[in-house]
Amino acid sequence: MASSATAPPLIPHHLSTRAAALPDFFTTSRPIKVVVGGESTAKPFHIHEALLVNQSKFFAAAMRKGWKENEEGVVSLPSCDPEEFAQFASFLYTGQVQVSQGTRENPGSHRLAKAWLFGTWLSSTTYQDLVLDALVYNIIGSGCDIFPTGLHTLVYSQTAGDCGMRRLLVDAAVFGWPAKKLAAMSQDHEGDDFKADVAKVYAGQKEQKNTRKQRKRAAPFHFDTCQYHEHGEKPCYKTFFEKL
Ligand SMILES: [Zn+2]
Repeated sequence: MASSATAPPLIPHHLSTRAAALPDFFTTSRPIKVVVGGESTAKPFHIHEALLVNQSKFFAAAMRKGWKENEEGVVSLPSCDPEEFAQFASFLYTGQVQVSQGTRENPGSHRLAKAWLFGTWLSSTTYQDLVLDALVYNIIGSGCDIFPTGLHTLVYSQTAGDCGMRRLLVDAAVFGWPAKKLAAMSQDHEGDDFKADVAKVYAGQKEQKNTRKQRKRAAPFHFDTCQYHEHGEKPCYKTFFEKL
């Protein structure tokens, strides 16, 4: 029999924050037309305003009273990818993100990292936190071995300074990669922020003389993903989920 103290799943089936705050949005909120993509690829999405405004500070700002977007009920996002927006739209209505374990090339992890970056652009911390947990699930599911080299390049090139996704990618390397590779990175990280961050965290692990197997078991993301979340002082979406 499962213990009542069992930790909640990393990927919840839905988010109670939305359900509790917006019980009647189907009847009280108007649909907003969001046109995503450039001229040749543009796709229209029709999303309830309450969901957009509740989950994204970008849309909350766009829909302020007196603004053209509010009056017309239309928001254009010509520089965004319709597929990425479709995933966000799906999250708004289901509270879920799609997860795939991926392959050695790991397109699943890459897609999730891009979704997290899109969440930054949208200022949607709940989406970012859920996507990051999905990425953790993805990394753990792969035995911490599948980790595309392009992932940190993508994230480090599109973020500045410390953030949860950077810290997660550094931990995934430090606690999953072979010691030989990490030692080489520690020796030569001049001008490479990712390698420098890895070297810093790996220095602590080296002192403990942990084997790779021990390092994998000790990975911080096995125990708590909140340390990588963007919600700050606000309650974590997982806290709301536990209350159900
Ligand atoms: Zn959290």
